[in-house]
Amino acid sequence: MDRIAVIDIDNTLWQFCDVLHAKLRRINPDFPPVKEWRDWDFWEDYCTASEFFNAIHSIHSNQDSPEYRPYPEAGEFLSTLKEKGFHLIIASHRDPVFREPTENWLRQHGLPYDELHLSFDKTVLFSESCYCVIDDAPHILEKASSMSIRTAGLRFPWNEECRGNGFNLYNSLREISRDILQDL
Ligand SMILES: [Mg+2]
Repeated sequence: MDRIAVIDIDNTLWQFCDVLHAKLRRINPDFPPVKEWRDWDFWEDYCTASEFFNAIHSIHSNQDSPEYRPYPEAGEFLSTLKEKGFHLIIASHRDPVFREPTENWLRQHGLPYDELHLSFDKTVLFSESCYCVIDDAPHILEKASSMSIRTAGLRFPWNEECRGNGFNLYNSLREISRDILQDL
């Protein structure tokens, strides 16, 4: 069986946080910059829960809009893993109703994958057959690591704080694929 790689979308295949920051600044101009987002509830002093989640949904519902572009190396990253025999499950924490714009976005930008999983609990995918989980969220990386699944994430303020918790952080997708492939 192919090795399974579970790969996140937001802040893994594209810079979601910058778009979210621009939206949040429209709700409250005092929203701190992304470099100060060190925990998951950074927003609580600046807007309501519904304002925050509506901002996220407004991005996901328009995922295929032309200004939401993947990282330049995202396509090569996915195709390199695919060529090496990985089964790619793209797994995003988002409402499954946003499947169509998400599929459109992946197709528009030539991002290859085998399965697309949209839910509010991607850890249901984690099993002995998972080879690696690539994600920026500390709780996801910690869960995978606790199950002895290899982990990798792009480095952000919110995961840098928890980097001692058993997961691996990198500066680029190229570094991640190099590291994963050299151990095959
Ligand atoms: Mg993410």
